[in-house]
Amino acid sequence: MTAALIDGKAFAESLRGRVGELAAGFQAKAGRKAGLAVVLVGEDPASQVYVRNKGKQTVACGMASFEHKLPAETAEADLLALVERLNADPAVDGILVQLPLPPHVDEQKVIATINPDKDVDGFHVVNAGRLAVGQAGFVPCTPLGCVMLLRDRLGDLAGLEAVVIGRSNIVGKPMAQLLLAQSCTVTIAHSRTRDLPGVVRRADIVVAAAGRAEMVKADWIKPGATVIDVGINRVPAAEAGKTKLVGDVDFAGVSEVAGAITPVPGGVGPMTIAVLLRNTLVAAHRNAGLELAADAI
Ligand code: NAD
Repeated sequence: MTAALIDGKAFAESLRGRVGELAAGFQAKAGRKAGLAVVLVGEDPASQVYVRNKGKQTVACGMASFEHKLPAETAEADLLALVERLNADPAVDGILVQLPLPPHVDEQKVIATINPDKDVDGFHVVNAGRLAVGQAGFVPCTPLGCVMLLRDRLGDLAGLEAVVIGRSNIVGKPMAQLLLAQSCTVTIAHSRTRDLPGVVRRADIVVAAAGRAEMVKADWIKPGATVIDVGINRVPAAEAGKTKLVGDVDFAGVSEVAGAITPVPGGVGPMTIAVLLRNTLVAAHRNAGLELAADAI
């Protein structure tokens, strides 16, 4: 392996440390803890793990965690009513509704009901719009975490060629907006892109968020490029009956060509919750009318 390893786990740990210090300062000034409400509908095992980890890490950072677990058959109207109550609750600074929601619930309607100033996931159209026009708002956690890793590794990103593979509202589109805001020259590639390897070969920065196991190969990568692998794919392991996690990037091959690369697991994954806690702390300061220096976190 010739590429430097980008250690998202260590970066996330230090980010959580800074959030914890600032959360203590917030509590001293505001007379209450910053609070994050997480709503889980149904019993999807992966979602249960995410929600449990979010709750644990919120408390570990000195913030209040409010968990609302609802049965899968919860009516849409009842979920919307809960979101309205959380919007009105002064102890709640951030609201996260764990996706996916059961099929009878309209996800967009639920997201649209969250007060944009408590929308720490950054999924509300108001926050997507703020990001697009360069106003302060909340940015989806995973792509913001990717930019933090890139800035930490490369410093100024201005003028670099960036290729984002994937155009989802959660990862690909906000990722492209953030890189544009860093003055990269940005290309968004997707499932209908012609000659994807050729497009990726132009990139100084590659962000892979397609959800396709080990799709990005070594000969797609410009030597020395920085590769951020957002993909999380469960595939069969060598040992019969077992599975393992791999990214969207063929790590073994690409790490012989790239300048730096995030591993899966241990790269982008740990950044998501750390950024969620960061966003909640920012929301708490805004809701309490307290200053938080733009470069504090
Ligand atoms: P999605 O399915 O909503 O979007 C995938 C995108 O990839 C689409 O825009 C599609 O056009 C594109 N795509 C699919 N196949 C392609 C192909 N063969 N070539 C080029 N483009 C292709 O997925 P998402 O929610 O954006 O997530 C993407 C991946 O990131 C998934 O593996 C997901 O598990 C992972 N993810 C990780 C984190 C994290 O690390 N915390 C967070 C969110 C998503």
